[in-house]
Amino acid sequence: MTHDPNCIFCKIVAGQIPSKKVFEDEDLIVFHDIHPWAPVHILIVPKAHIVSHAELTEEHQALAGKMMVLAPRLMKELGVTGGFRTVINTGRDGGQEVMHLHMHVMGGPRPWSKG
Ligand code: ADP
Repeated sequence: MTHDPNCIFCKIVAGQIPSKKVFEDEDLIVFHDIHPWAPVHILIVPKAHIVSHAELTEEHQALAGKMMVLAPRLMKELGVTGGFRTVINTGRDGGQEVMHLHMHVMGGPRPWSKG
């Protein structure tokens, strides 16, 4: 599995820096965002170092589907009942700060800090 020793999310995957983990399996890790925009704000992150959504190809279909299907399940488990927002920022012009693919999933009662 690809790993970038300088990547903050790879360090979380490796357990080298702490996170508030909500889910983990062989492909994905999910943890609470350190600067939440919403009452519940989690990040669904592939364990492999995939830089961004722009790098996904046919070989990643199962992984991408797994991320999509996991979001509603975890929101339900975290008690989010009123809906949620999913965001994937891609590349510089997409506002991506951490160059390791991740899906933001945000929910909980409004107002939120962003949007
Ligand atoms: P943006 O910061 O514009 O949302 P990204 O889509 O790249 O850009 O999101 C990176 C997210 O990672 C941010 O919401 C940030 O708060 C979060 N983050 C950065 N470092 C950590 C960390 N150590 N643990 C949890 N979340 C983190």
